Amino acid sequence: MICKNPATGEILRELDPTPVELIPELFVRSRKAQILWAALPPKKRAERLKQIRETLLNHTDELIELITQENGKPRLEALSSELLPSLELLTYFAKKGPGILRDTPLPLRLMKHRKSYLNHFPYGVVAILSPWNYPFLLPFSDIMLALLAGNSVIFKPSERAPLVGLRIQELCDESGLPQNLLQTVIGDDSVGAAVITAGASGASGPDKIFFTGNIENGKKILRAAAETVTPVSLELGGKNAIIVLPDADIEYATSAIVWGAFTNSGQVCAATSRAFVHEKIIDAVAARVAEKLSSLRQAPSSQYDNDLGPITLESQKAIYSKQLDEARNRGATIVCGGNFSQDRVFLEPTVLRTQDTAGLSVFTDETFGPILAISAFKSPADAVEQANRGHYGLTASIITKNLSLGEEIAKQLHVGTVMLNEVVYTAGLPEVPWGGVKRSGMGRAHSECGLLEFVNLRHIHKPRSRLFIFKSLWWFPYTPHQFMAFRKFADLYRNHWTDKIRAFPHFLIHLVHFLKREKRL
Ligand code: NAD
Repeated sequence: MICKNPATGEILRELDPTPVELIPELFVRSRKAQILWAALPPKKRAERLKQIRETLLNHTDELIELITQENGKPRLEALSSELLPSLELLTYFAKKGPGILRDTPLPLRLMKHRKSYLNHFPYGVVAILSPWNYPFLLPFSDIMLALLAGNSVIFKPSERAPLVGLRIQELCDESGLPQNLLQTVIGDDSVGAAVITAGASGASGPDKIFFTGNIENGKKILRAAAETVTPVSLELGGKNAIIVLPDADIEYATSAIVWGAFTNSGQVCAATSRAFVHEKIIDAVAARVAEKLSSLRQAPSSQYDNDLGPITLESQKAIYSKQLDEARNRGATIVCGGNFSQDRVFLEPTVLRTQDTAGLSVFTDETFGPILAISAFKSPADAVEQANRGHYGLTASIITKNLSLGEEIAKQLHVGTVMLNEVVYTAGLPEVPWGGVKRSGMGRAHSECGLLEFVNLRHIHKPRSRLFIFKSLWWFPYTPHQFMAFRKFADLYRNHWTDKIRAFPHFLIHLVHFLKREKRL
């Protein structure tokens, strides 16, 4: 595998993929390491996360360099969108994680003589399969939460970001993480497939799959997991809307639109690549967006003075051309951009505008690049209808000064996250969940929900004390008084209190007869 800098074509390193025949052995080692790791209390595991945070800080500058070289994103984004959220995540979960993993009482309404609680226990070996667009933050956060929950991890970084993936492994090793607790495999989707199907033949395989990638591959993962009924979390693509209401401040709204659609050159699952702008202000918004984009600097990220880096993947360029050609042919106006650089390393930040959006791929399919599509809406209901079209449901943003109207609209959007007067960035907040509805996925990353994705739930039910150990009323042998006691008990569920009062003495009489016969009174 040849790892190249997407801006310069420079070869960074050649790597051999992990031979698939080694994968079963990796699972065996992983399972052994997991048993010892899970025996540590969560607090002790959290302590280890703090050590990893320290190691990460010792290598921050070198990591920025590596992320920039392998992925192409600006250095500021490598720091602000990858490393800082990772440090924040470690800090938050090192403190809060043990509490989230604590047993949770489940108060019982009827059975006052017994107690129930939820006990969280790790799945075992978790397979984490990651994409290339946030090559550090995404796998790192999933790995940290899986480990904190007491699992071991087999991690497959994207074949387009293996160097950053290997560096994560090295950082964990350097932090003293037990051997084999995290193991990284290198390769393309065939190696990924070998990891997730490792258990199909009866050998040791993953107990949980955490996949971040595109929808089509997500479906393949689900099909493969069905074979072994392995639980799966899927963080898939998005086609995210930003709705700009007529009261919005144009300067604020256009800065939000530009960053939301073009950070990381739009190669973001949460990129706000569809802007629905009120018809009264759409001309002003489109013009100001184009103006702001014209001042952004698109260049290789070798210095500290670019805003947009190169297109990371060659294969994405065909998607951009197809979506742009189709939009042009359907009469969309190119507000700005639309051309590749001569060497085709960059696509100019592109904005197109049209009202003919139905079935237009730039409005329906993921673009994952520096293209923004704008369309007008007439009323909030119209904006909601347009934003809810399609199979994706990851995020949406609303720009308005009227926060209560914003919230009202937010609650009508079929997505996993709605940001009012913000875009994209909550993916970097450890406290809040990240994940989509519809075909954008299932399950959540980050937050309490995200940590709980990595544990099984075990319900434990017990007598309140040893004084309360007695035969249950519904056990054998069945008798007529027992039946009638239950029959009258059912009437206690009636809505009217007079009916309940009428039923109660009958219930009591049958109960006493039943208990006497059983020699329990
Ligand atoms: P991808 O689906 O091509 O690959 C993701 C990972 O899964 C890679 O490591 C790949 O090798 C592996 N893989 C692919 N097919 C597999 C299979 N059949 N079996 C096992 N492993 C397999 O995705 P990508 O191109 O790397 O990333 C871009 C996609 O990820 C976009 O659709 C983007 O929206 C999505 N994404 C989603 C989120 C989110 O949080 N929802 C975040 C980032 C990226």
